Amino acid sequence: MTLVNRVSAFFLGALALILVVYSAALFLTARSYLERQFDEQLRSSLNTLVAAVEVEEDDVKWEPSDHTVTLGVETGLEDIRWVVVDERGLQMDASRNLAPSPANPTALDESQAILQFARTWRDGQTQSADGQWRFLQYRLTAPHPKPASERDPLERELVIVTVARSTSDLRAALTWLGTLLVVAPVVCWGAAAVIGRWFTRKAIAPVREMAAAARKMKPDSSGLRLPVASAGDELTELGTAFNGVLDQLFEAYERQRRFAGDAAHQLRTPATVLQGEVDVTLRRPRTPEEYQRSLEVVRRQTGELRQTIESMLFLARPPGNDQAVLVEGDLVDLARSAAARWEGQPRAADLRLELGDRVVCRVAPALVGQILDNLIGNAFKYSSPGTPVVVAVRQKDGEGIVEIRDAGIGIEAEAQRDIFEPFFRTRQARQTGAGGTGLGLPIARRMAEAMGGGLTCVSRPGEGSTFSLHIPLSSNAP
Ligand code: ADP
Repeated sequence: MTLVNRVSAFFLGALALILVVYSAALFLTARSYLERQFDEQLRSSLNTLVAAVEVEEDDVKWEPSDHTVTLGVETGLEDIRWVVVDERGLQMDASRNLAPSPANPTALDESQAILQFARTWRDGQTQSADGQWRFLQYRLTAPHPKPASERDPLERELVIVTVARSTSDLRAALTWLGTLLVVAPVVCWGAAAVIGRWFTRKAIAPVREMAAAARKMKPDSSGLRLPVASAGDELTELGTAFNGVLDQLFEAYERQRRFAGDAAHQLRTPATVLQGEVDVTLRRPRTPEEYQRSLEVVRRQTGELRQTIESMLFLARPPGNDQAVLVEGDLVDLARSAAARWEGQPRAADLRLELGDRVVCRVAPALVGQILDNLIGNAFKYSSPGTPVVVAVRQKDGEGIVEIRDAGIGIEAEAQRDIFEPFFRTRQARQTGAGGTGLGLPIARRMAEAMGGGLTCVSRPGEGSTFSLHIPLSSNAP
């Protein structure tokens, strides 16, 4: 079921329920009101008639006033018919509209039916068998009537007043109301179904467009993004968020692709050197010394190859797996040890230490050692002999910082971000002829991040570079 259908079905179901409840409540209320009105009119007519009866000690007299006589003159269905009978069932009086007339041709039948009803005392309101008429009766009795034998023919023991009213107008009104309350909601519901579906379709249209755009996407379609409506609603939010994820995914995909290409390129050079060395050696028989020299070249090359492969394996791991085991360590100590490892090297004299007091952080000492070795090595590699390489340790804003400053070739502003990407090497670095794989800095940054820290670079081409290793201070630090 499509989203449009589902939303429409929920909406129309709820609307149908509301309309049914509303119509039923309206119909029942209206019916109860109309019936009450109907009965009140009947009762007030009966009261008017009863007022015309005079009850004496031994006689009941029917003395209609002018007002009573006007009641039941009209012949319409709405109008009241009435009959007054005595204890013998003799009709004493009746409304004029019960007499046959050209305007009321059915009056004879009606008067027969009503008279028949009036002759029996039923105590309370009733309906005729076919529901066409509703009756109301009242009986007035003389408290001490004379025995029948002594009674004058005009004297009555009791009088029964009966009023009748046709229910056909009431029923017609109720039927009309019922029809209206069925037809109007059905029409409303139909209109809501058409308009609601149109609106829902329109509201959901951006989702369809997004789905269509998403279907077209391939891993390499990095330019494609979901269309985002400018309505500023939830769909805009969803589209923007999704496009943000796509940006990251495409960027990661692109990085991965570049990594694979660069890695293949990086491995091809030592592999070619290796193969060339072996081919040249095998071209003719060699002396044991020549074989030994050749094998040493092979060993050096495979060592470098292994190193590169190890670095690539490290970088290929998802960053989440890097969490290192941290202990409390003094960055000053670690920097001093790193500097000490360069003793005896040609440029050892260029190394300057600016180490203050203890700077205690939570570190993996081996990782800090590798990072510093890499940064000091780069500083030597990309600066001229005789220029200083400074290792400084300080703390600032809750972080311990080790800075490696050189006065070397420096890095162009636009390359300062890329040097942390695998295999990236600046043009100037390549021109120096100093070997390198471009894997040292990305690995150093990953190691710094594994300790909850970071690695940044500030540099000016031709003036030198400063690499800063940041690590959060230990909470027990003084
Ligand atoms: P490698 O030094 O093996 O090329 P790195 O990942 O250590 O790889 O460094 C990446 C690149 O960053 C280098 O090739 C160089 O272009 C630049 N770089 C690193 N350190 C320095 C530095 N101290 N001075 C100038 N450029 C540097």
